[in-house]
Amino acid sequence: MTPATIIFVRPTPGARRAAWLVAGALLILGTAAIPFASRPWPAIDWYVPVICTAAVLVNLMTCYVLFGQFLVSGSYASAILGGGYLYSAVIVGFYLISFPGSGTLVAADPQASGWLWIAWHAGFPLIAIAYALAERRKLRRANSSWLFAPAIAAAAAVAAASIGLGALLLNAGDRLPPLIDGLDYSGAVLTSVGLGTLAANFAALAAVLVLLRSRTLLQLWLPVATLAFALSTVLIAVARQRYALGWYLAPAISLAGAGAVLLAFLHEMTLLYAKLVAMQARLRAMVDIDGLTGLANRRRFNTTLQQQWLHARREQRPISLLMIDVDHFKAYNDGLGHPAGDRCLQRLAAAIAGALHRPIDLAARYGGEEFAVILPETDPAGARRVAEHIQKAIHDLRLPQPAEPGAYVHVSIGVATDLEPFGESEAALVVRSDAALYRAKHEGRNRIVCADVPAAKPNADRRPLALAS
Ligand code: GH3
Ligand code: MG
Ligand code: MG
Repeated sequence: MTPATIIFVRPTPGARRAAWLVAGALLILGTAAIPFASRPWPAIDWYVPVICTAAVLVNLMTCYVLFGQFLVSGSYASAILGGGYLYSAVIVGFYLISFPGSGTLVAADPQASGWLWIAWHAGFPLIAIAYALAERRKLRRANSSWLFAPAIAAAAAVAAASIGLGALLLNAGDRLPPLIDGLDYSGAVLTSVGLGTLAANFAALAAVLVLLRSRTLLQLWLPVATLAFALSTVLIAVARQRYALGWYLAPAISLAGAGAVLLAFLHEMTLLYAKLVAMQARLRAMVDIDGLTGLANRRRFNTTLQQQWLHARREQRPISLLMIDVDHFKAYNDGLGHPAGDRCLQRLAAAIAGALHRPIDLAARYGGEEFAVILPETDPAGARRVAEHIQKAIHDLRLPQPAEPGAYVHVSIGVATDLEPFGESEAALVVRSDAALYRAKHEGRNRIVCADVPAAKPNADRRPLALAS
């Protein structure tokens, strides 16, 4: 089974529309700008530092998400792409510190930033192609539990290799063929380096479009980022000089594409988290609720009774328990069938719950056709009154009982109260209410029997009792 991780999430129609919208907007913007791309524009000193810092951050965050997905899913493809984003982040960092005139940190050769730009714009598409091939072959480890160390090692290796390449290009600028003359790099555009970079971008775009089928969120958004990268490379090629309009627009477009991928991931994470919270609430409710009747189940009955009884013992307050058993229910099932029996139990449960008025009272399905009601702060007279309300509510349902022609479904109720609870546990209260129920059965059913209230706690240092009326 495909793990429910953000990279494998099936895109919703809304996500598909968003991807088309972003891709369309970038395509229109990028192609519309081509005729004006070579127009010179004033030099803006802060532009490269700002856009490159943003690019480093976006690339690092996307890398983090993708390596995380590799850990969760075991998908080698996402580790490869994560490596691609890490590579980009490092190379953009080197481009930033080598770019002349933007508060350069290192005295780099003027050619270095050109070569770093090439390393960035040719390297990432090649890694995107490797990702598409790996994704196509569904290279994935079924058991991802041991992947943490390899993921860290792979990330460290990619970071080291990228830093090595960046440092090399930073220092070897004058030993490499020159790409730029002052601000003009038009001579490099039609060389094998320039054309190769363009080709790598279009090959990557073709690879992600052909090899990936937009079946997953990542497969949907990576082509958008690749398209943005290719458009950005075209604009740079057409601009032919630094500080031309296309030269400014290009990194903004590729950043928008990368940012869109990251945003899609973050959005999906939020949705998954919301689903998780809702699922947890549903599971929690299911753990405590009886599936047929919607009342509290036996588990919740046990814990609630124990808590309320201990509280009653500590405060020396009364607590009552009703045990309710449907009379001749086997005959009801035999006469009308189990589905009708189930519906009957549901209506009885609703009637019992409806007869309780204090928020602290709890009605539960004890098992089969037996119900139990916990009545904290309730003395014997109060408990009997609640039992009578329940009996009346059930009678008012007027559910015909096949075993007794002309009669309606009725119940027997055993009532027990601890006026001044003492002892170890609530077990004795349960035993007494159960015994009272059996007496009700033996005495002819359709009746309420109250167990005797136990004698007061021997030698107790008791507080005065004010009984609820
Ligand atoms: P009594 O008056 O002595 O309580 O007789 P009874 O027939 O109600 O008692 P018995 O314990 O012999 O039968 C209980 C029946 O309740 C058995 C079973 O058919 C029915 N029952 C228990 N749980 C369910 C349930 O979830 N759905 C349905 N339809 N029937 C149930
Ligand atoms: Mg029974
Ligand atoms: Mg019964």
